[in-house]
Amino acid sequence: MVRIAHCDQHIHQAINTYCGKCKEVICLECIFDLHKGHEVDKLANVLLMFKEEISASTKKVREYEDEKKKKNEKNEKNEKNDYFSSLAQDSRR
Ligand SMILES: [Zn+2]
Ligand SMILES: [Zn+2]
Repeated sequence: MVRIAHCDQHIHQAINTYCGKCKEVICLECIFDLHKGHEVDKLANVLLMFKEEISASTKKVREYEDEKKKKNEKNEKNEKNDYFSSLAQDSRR
């Protein structure tokens, strides 16, 4: 099972394409942007041939997403702390 990953350049795009030149999994927008003119194929088509490579790439993407998630959680916590400390200040008045 391959989890649907999203492109780090185009976060709203699911990665469903494989660039044979860069040996990378990319999104539809990347084909016309970073990988313009490159030899690309549908991810499903090359999945069987490059199963291990793709899983390595999706793993990288997953790690990146996890890192991004962690950062977001940190930011949320900081915002919450700010919110609560401002509440505490208000209640003192
Ligand atoms: Zn992209
Ligand atoms: Zn490429």
